[in-house]
Amino acid sequence: MYTDLALYIDGKWINGGGNRKGEDVLNPATEKPLAHLPHASKADLDDALEAAKKGFALWRATSAYDRAKILRKAADLMRERHDAISKILVQEQGKTYVEARAEVITSADIIDWYAEEGRRSYGRIVPGRAKGTRQLVVTEPVGIVAAFTPWNFPVLTPARKIGGALAAGCALILKASEETPGACVEMVRCFADAGLPAGVLNLVFGVPSEVSEHLLAKDAVRKISFTGSIPVGKHLTALAAKGMKRTTMELGGHSPVVVFADADPEKAADTIAAFKYRNAGQVCISPTRFYVQEDVYKKFLTRFTDYARGLKLGDGLEKGITMGPMANSRRIDAMESFVADAKSRGGTVVTGGKRHGNQGYFYEPTVVTEVPDDSKVMTEEPFGPIAPVVTFKTFDEVVERANSLQFGLAAYAFTTSTATAAAIGDAIESGMVGVNSIAVSTPETPFGGVKESGHGSEGGIEGLGAYLNTKFISQG
Ligand code: NAD
Repeated sequence: MYTDLALYIDGKWINGGGNRKGEDVLNPATEKPLAHLPHASKADLDDALEAAKKGFALWRATSAYDRAKILRKAADLMRERHDAISKILVQEQGKTYVEARAEVITSADIIDWYAEEGRRSYGRIVPGRAKGTRQLVVTEPVGIVAAFTPWNFPVLTPARKIGGALAAGCALILKASEETPGACVEMVRCFADAGLPAGVLNLVFGVPSEVSEHLLAKDAVRKISFTGSIPVGKHLTALAAKGMKRTTMELGGHSPVVVFADADPEKAADTIAAFKYRNAGQVCISPTRFYVQEDVYKKFLTRFTDYARGLKLGDGLEKGITMGPMANSRRIDAMESFVADAKSRGGTVVTGGKRHGNQGYFYEPTVVTEVPDDSKVMTEEPFGPIAPVVTFKTFDEVVERANSLQFGLAAYAFTTSTATAAAIGDAIESGMVGVNSIAVSTPETPFGGVKESGHGSEGGIEGLGAYLNTKFISQG
């Protein structure tokens, strides 16, 4: 039911017959090993780099029209194989099958969208000052990209980077998460089977710091795209600066949700609670700080808590399960520390607040109230199924509180006033704002943060531009 894990370098699958140094991949629902993951040696990384050089020369010379055909074929294969890939994803990551399936299908849509958009990376002609001159602005692929992706969306996050980079004509060395490698292996297999030339896309695993330090020291790598935590993002940006390499940093968030008194509190609770507990809250744009205007606080809290209490925890492959385990034991430790801190500061645990069962990394959907703004859960990214819900009085007050942290990834607001909708959309310091909407992540729209949540966008035309250099040619 799981898959054979391997590295993919220069068009060849390398698993070393199970004898290579590496690590075991665990099922977070059972804590039992699923398979052994081989690590890339330094020599493997150098092979991947040489392959990427060869792949880049070939791929950049391939027309956008022909590149699109291969990308679209890969997306079709992902759709054809979605059931098997989704089951692998559930086993290694823990999310429910329904969520895994949506991730795989959306990832195929992302690849399709980039396939088309790559054909529209136009330049422009700027009129020259002197007669007979031509001034051309053209785009070129940045070159070889090193991409690093985390364990919470093992298919979707790599899909964004692969889609953008390949559509732009770049070659890629992807280091996907060692904790959730299988579904990504299967996605890369779709590209291989779609006829992607050897070397254009290479997949490696290893000790993250060793892989990134090795690759980022190479001149041939011209761009780094990273999704993960803020401390690691800062570290990789510093390494990239040494070689003046371009970066896209999609880092953590701590998304405020503002529910104004003129909104329907129960409708808002239904929408945002379902979004909150998706993937057990391990989502960078997950709503994580709930500010509710006093008049509607009680109604919102009751409805939201009812939703949390109604979730059915269990192995994501079982029918009827609506929330899976946390992806790893580190998240359980983190949830325990958030709840302990909230309690010690006078917070009330309305529901949840402890582990669930005695096997697997399950943690109860949790709601806490009366936590001060400087408590841990209100200031550090929770990345789990915990929701602090507090009150506010005025627009200016809530904007100040929402903007008080160094995060700026996503934010949400609910109101029936068009004036308030426009004002909150403008006032929040965030890369994405959903007003009466949670649809802040689609293939065709830009996705990325401000402040310490990172820089650059993935998705939309901005996500393609992230892999293109601009060149100016002045012809006399
Ligand atoms: P972590 O900081 O150890 O790792 C985060 C990610 O970075 C992992 O995928 C890891 O493999 C990778 N990584 C770590 N060191 C690296 C290095 N030197 N070079 C390249 N890659 C490296 O934390 P964690 O325990 O895996 O996750 C905890 C926190 O990370 C969460 O609380 C959340 O804030 C953040 N996170 C964010 C996202 C996101 O989508 N933005 C995804 C996963 C984790």
